Amino acid sequence: MYRTHTNGELNINNVGENVTLSGWVQTIRDKGFMMWIDLRDRYGITQLVVDEDRASEELFAEARKLGREYVVRVKGEVIERVSKNPNIPTGEIEILIKEIEILNEAKLPPFTIENETDGGEELRMQYRYLDIRRNPVKNKLIFRSKVAQEVRSYLANDGFIEVETPVLIKSTPEGARDFVVPSRMNPGQFYALPQSPQTFKQLLMVGGLDKYYQIVKCFRDEDLRADRQPEFTQIDCEMAFVEQEDILNIFEGLTRHLLKEVKGVEIDKFPRMTYADAMRRYGNDKPDIRFGMEFAELNDLAKGKGFNVFDAQELIVGIAAPGCASYTRKQVDALIDWVKRPQIGANGLVWARYNEDGTFKSSVDKFYSEEDLKAWAEKMDAKPGDLMLLMAGDANSTRKQLSELRMEMAKRLDLRNPEEFAPLWVVDFPLLEWDEETNRWHAMHHPFTSPKPEDIALLESNPGEVRANAYDLVLNGNEIGGGSIRIFNKDVQSRMFDLLGFTKEEAQKQFGFLMNAFEYGAPPHGGIAFGFDRLVSILDGSETIRDYIAFPKNNAGRDVMINTPASIDASQLEELHIDVKDIKS
Ligand code: ASP
Repeated sequence: MYRTHTNGELNINNVGENVTLSGWVQTIRDKGFMMWIDLRDRYGITQLVVDEDRASEELFAEARKLGREYVVRVKGEVIERVSKNPNIPTGEIEILIKEIEILNEAKLPPFTIENETDGGEELRMQYRYLDIRRNPVKNKLIFRSKVAQEVRSYLANDGFIEVETPVLIKSTPEGARDFVVPSRMNPGQFYALPQSPQTFKQLLMVGGLDKYYQIVKCFRDEDLRADRQPEFTQIDCEMAFVEQEDILNIFEGLTRHLLKEVKGVEIDKFPRMTYADAMRRYGNDKPDIRFGMEFAELNDLAKGKGFNVFDAQELIVGIAAPGCASYTRKQVDALIDWVKRPQIGANGLVWARYNEDGTFKSSVDKFYSEEDLKAWAEKMDAKPGDLMLLMAGDANSTRKQLSELRMEMAKRLDLRNPEEFAPLWVVDFPLLEWDEETNRWHAMHHPFTSPKPEDIALLESNPGEVRANAYDLVLNGNEIGGGSIRIFNKDVQSRMFDLLGFTKEEAQKQFGFLMNAFEYGAPPHGGIAFGFDRLVSILDGSETIRDYIAFPKNNAGRDVMINTPASIDASQLEELHIDVKDIKS
């Protein structure tokens, strides 16, 4: 038997018991006449002691052979500690060792395996299995597992069935590039890895399964922004005979269940906001509503006062940064530089201090009177002590830029409290968006999303105005889920493919299987998918998904532990009928 107890289990009530423990040696303190060893496993740390008076010389010699991270089994008696450690559950006891057995030796680890470590990120990724031994990493994986179990329990309780869908498929259009896999048995042909199980879950609805879910890996070959992974996990769901309202209710319920079970947080009904409102009020389709600084549009108040910079613009819009009237000129200039950086791309920033004494001071005093600025303040809901920040330009980009500034101010003002949870639904997304580069319409969600029935008539005449039965669930400024009611009628689906610029042949070739299925009695259906990695990280008060993935990839999409992607043998390439030019190995 390797152990009678784990290393997190024993306490003062076990004093006098003879126990067997196994684990890794975390630290060794050798005082000559006495040695203390911290033994670690997933459950905690137990202090072991060998002392000259009570141990044989052989035992002492054996203990001296130990090194950091050695795997050992010890037998001994639980005794009360002289100097207790109130910070850990086992802190009142220690084990007086009677036998030690080294189960495996260990090389000196490349970084310290403690809560605080000296290892840099790349090194820890390379030795991820050692990093996982550390509490901060291990606890995140345990947290993830708990969330997954709560997801399963909620959905299973509601009658959802878990179905696995294939990984070797053909393209699903979620808007990214596909990863492809060559088929040896079908020369020159390729599978694509699923960007999501979208078409399969719809086919499961045609198959009559009614309620489907799956916690599933998805693959998207995108340029990796800071917090993206080429493979990630979704909680993927689909239901038949539902309307948007049914889906929102069930998945609001799921989110509420998770917040309650894993965070102990109870939240009332989630607010809903249309896409148009989210853009107007926050310049963002995933607004963080934990704090204010809502947009105020000032065209009426700021135009026609002789300030040409404003007069010529489509939109003048501002926010009031709370308590920032005291910003020095230098701090304000730094903000102006910040918005002018190419990542934000604004032309500049107009500012107006609403001083504590009720007076105003602005960068445009030449053009605007106290009265004017007071009217701005009212519109912006600014209070004495606030700093009003205005931007102007074409509506879309100005909103985006001001949204960046709003988030930046929230960060500087510490308004993004990770322990506060502010979910909301964003609904009524546009069905299509115009892509300047390719000069054609793109599905904003995906091509299977249903237009709102009342907007179907506009499909050909005014596609940009058509709203979709599509919704996103936003939590603390992050999109954690998104879905839609689907098209289930072959004709509407084929009109949609037309709009997206597919020829009939292309549509048939790529999605014929789905359109054919729609001819055999497809029920009305809809669904949603949550980004599971992101959901878990936000619930845990972090925004770094990589920390919640056991074996993540780095920013270049590499797994530096197993060193992949990697080249493959010429013979393997040949077997796959692939001719690779200019291989760099
Ligand atoms: N397949 C969609 C996605 O991955 C989710 C859905 O529409 O259910 O975003």
